[in-house]
Amino acid sequence: MSVQHLADTYLQSGQIDNLPDNHFIDGTFVAGSSGEKMESFDPARAEAFGSFALGSASDMDKAIAAAEKAAASWRKVAPSERCRILNNAARVLRENADQLSVLEVVDSGKTLAEAQGDVAGSARLFEYYAGAADKLDGRSVNLGTANTAFTVREPVGVTGHIIPWNYPTSTFARGVAPALAAGCSVVAKPAETTPYTALVMAGLLTEAGVPEGLVNVVTGLGSEVGAQMAKDPRIKQLTFTGSVNTGVNVMQMAAPNVTRLTLELGGKSPLVAFEDADPEAVADGAYWAIFSNSGQICSAGSRLVVHKSIRDDVIDLLVQKAKALKVGHGLKNPDMGAVNSEVHLGRIKAHVDAAKARGRDILTGGNITTDPETGLGWFFEPTIIADLPLDDPAVQEEIFGPVLAVQVFDTEDDAIRLANGTEFGLIGSVYTRDVGRAMRVSQALDCGQVSVNDYWAGGIELPFGGNGKSGYGREKGWEGLDAYTKVKSITISNAS
Ligand code: NAD
Repeated sequence: MSVQHLADTYLQSGQIDNLPDNHFIDGTFVAGSSGEKMESFDPARAEAFGSFALGSASDMDKAIAAAEKAAASWRKVAPSERCRILNNAARVLRENADQLSVLEVVDSGKTLAEAQGDVAGSARLFEYYAGAADKLDGRSVNLGTANTAFTVREPVGVTGHIIPWNYPTSTFARGVAPALAAGCSVVAKPAETTPYTALVMAGLLTEAGVPEGLVNVVTGLGSEVGAQMAKDPRIKQLTFTGSVNTGVNVMQMAAPNVTRLTLELGGKSPLVAFEDADPEAVADGAYWAIFSNSGQICSAGSRLVVHKSIRDDVIDLLVQKAKALKVGHGLKNPDMGAVNSEVHLGRIKAHVDAAKARGRDILTGGNITTDPETGLGWFFEPTIIADLPLDDPAVQEEIFGPVLAVQVFDTEDDAIRLANGTEFGLIGSVYTRDVGRAMRVSQALDCGQVSVNDYWAGGIELPFGGNGKSGYGREKGWEGLDAYTKVKSITISNAS
């Protein structure tokens, strides 16, 4: 069955076959202890299409117990065998890419092209970390002649993964793949509005040869099962992606156990365009930076920091592009899909309404809309707010929607001050033809990644993560393994 056939079947029937509606614990789908269910909605139709288990503390307890047992065996499996199984996982994910992509669109609201990219990237994550499993070497250390010394990297044990709704498939894969490669086991909790792809992937990993109990998925409320996971002393590393407030809450719950944490908490990332940049390239970069995935990206380019001399040219082009942008059901591959939930749509609207009430200049968009073909769904118009001061809430707060805040500057120092002027520090981008300036500004930006003359550069191989309230720790790349390994130093006396 082609991806088009799967998409058309859903669009006609409103149903997806074989949706998992239970937790995945110890290698199998199991009903929740309460028997209660929650509904999942297709955001592009504002309509429920499936139900899934509302997890309880006892479900989370079972999942962690299964993961603890599995971790004890997995750490003894030869690294070359882990490598083989993870490569197999990548292959099985690719074989099921069409089903996973369609499911991701219906559950999250994103476009099919975006979901296909996410699934391909997820398979690639397993392949990349398969290659790492047998290369996690320590090093020998020179302590002189009295001792021989070396380090080893040991798996941390059971790892917990709290997954957001904007990238359900790829956030699952970017935590699970390095954890398994390092010899750890996994308990994952997907977001309330996007439970399915993690469940399906857990089943596929088992099919690929991942031993039972190694990857467990418990669905339900963050405030219940997520909190239970964060508090449990058996979890040795917690990888959290989501809002700053929940991240702080998770830190507090994990603190009594001194649990290791990786926090990916979002951002307000700037695209900085200097006077010598090509306005077309800047407008194109800024368009994709903010309107991809309806702006629901932690690293979205939600601020355009532009030199006053090219401001009008860039803005004219950007507004034209935004006005031409087509929204619609993700399975029809429009330019932009739906916002993930009604609650979140309300949050975006509240941010934009507040900007209107402050008298800010909304150059285009600014309203809730629907799929023009059906009149249904949770959509927000692509929105650009002009010439904002640094202290404006639309500049300082993460809106997490298709809303671009424009800031205008005069000098290079001014550009750096504005770009660094929020409490976040995830990524940044610099558009200029001057190599020296590109290097100076890249060094001056306080964030985890800078792209020059591009916005979405990067890949599985490149470490990703933030500074400040964007969180700490790095995922992807070789650095992504650090969270899942503990370094131990061993010395041997050379005396006989
Ligand atoms: P959230 O932080 O509440 O949810 C993220 C994850 O945390 C979900 O899996 C959720 O179930 C879980 N969670 C919620 N409460 C929890 C708790 N008490 N203990 C443990 N886990 C808990 O995010 P949200 O409410 O879905 O979205 C709100 C805002 O978060 C957005 O406006 C956006 O700014 C931000 N966000 C950021 C990202 C990102 O990629 N950094 C992703 C999603 C949301």
